[in-house]
Amino acid sequence: MDCAVVGASFAGLACAAALARAGMRVTVLEKKTDPGEKLHTTGIIVKEAIDQVTLLDGLPAELVRRINGVRLYAPNLRHVDLAAPGYYFLATDTPKVMRWLAARAEQAGARIVYRRLFEQAERIQSGFDLGEAGTTRFLVGADGPSSRVAKTLGLGQSTKFLFGVEHEYADVEIAEPDKLHCFIDRRLAPGYIGWVVAGVGVVQVGLARRMRADRSTANAAMEAFVEKTAPLFDLRRMQPVSVRAGMIPCGGVVKPVAARRVLLVGDAAGMVSPVTAGGIHTALKHGLATLTAVSFRSLSERCALRLVTRHKADASGSRHRLFSSQRRL
Ligand SMILES: Cc1cc2nc3c(=O)[nH]c(=O)nc-3n(C[C@H](O)[C@H](O)[C@H](O)COP(=O)(O)OP(=O)(O)OC[C@H]3O[C@@H](n4cnc5c(N)ncnc54)[C@H](O)[C@@H]3O)c2cc1C
Repeated sequence: MDCAVVGASFAGLACAAALARAGMRVTVLEKKTDPGEKLHTTGIIVKEAIDQVTLLDGLPAELVRRINGVRLYAPNLRHVDLAAPGYYFLATDTPKVMRWLAARAEQAGARIVYRRLFEQAERIQSGFDLGEAGTTRFLVGADGPSSRVAKTLGLGQSTKFLFGVEHEYADVEIAEPDKLHCFIDRRLAPGYIGWVVAGVGVVQVGLARRMRADRSTANAAMEAFVEKTAPLFDLRRMQPVSVRAGMIPCGGVVKPVAARRVLLVGDAAGMVSPVTAGGIHTALKHGLATLTAVSFRSLSERCALRLVTRHKADASGSRHRLFSSQRRL
């Protein structure tokens, strides 16, 4: 194959779709049985992603719900409403969005192999030997915050994280459902915020906090958060229908983010917005940008790298660092 992509989530599927569309033979290796299972994200997509990421064109309306602004609560629960004309987020039925994205990558020509855990890659002259998965010229690690690709190939790994936990409640309605309710609380969510949002068919309640201790600390904070927000949204007697939890890299882009013929994208690369801690937009955007790095396979690597570094940089420093690091591909 031309390129193996590890991870069938936002970054990996975007990358696979772009490379396959450009005519490369791409295989995605995913350890889960289905791209929609065991998610660790609220799945809110920012407007910039909808506007800029063509892969999202045609996202079915029934999989999303428009959120028009933010209600920001102080620790004492007093609030201020924030909105900008024309700006919105999309809450999503994330499992279905993931399946839809996987179908788009497959339509573009990518092959997705589920239940395939990436464990090792051995460098060979023409690229990598992945054992049972075959050989590949290029390898992309889109395998999330504790990337096995990074570990195996000696690339950088994130060391600073937030830990996020979220409960989903079915058959509940909340007041002001067109707002993302965000809570500042240094005790329950140090380093980040708590949130309540009416998603697609569920209400999502979560928080993220600096990760120092074990998961039980976050679970205890969640209990306290549900209690604290009860005067606004009383969910105390409800049982969550599902729980999503995971680490959010917050230390910036890892170094090195790439080496010869191998590149990290999305959370594996530490590409999460330093402002919002959202990573879906960057995962999609940088997944798609991988094409620039590897699709000029008929040119020499040196040429490809020059193209990469010339790729229009946006204002984000992290993106600039990514492309600079791709020189090493
Ligand atoms: C609680 C929580 C809420 C969040 N909410 C939002 C939000 O609302 N909006 C937003 O923009 N961001 C949010 N984020 C961040 C966002 O979810 C991530 O930035 C985003 O999922 C990154 O996508 P990714 O494709 O890089 O990695 P991931 O989504 O982590 O996907 C990695 C994939 O690789 C697979 N994989 C891992 N290891 C292997 C292996 N060895 N072999 C094969 N497959 C492997 C995994 O199964 C997974 O499918 C949230 C994060 C958390 C924890």
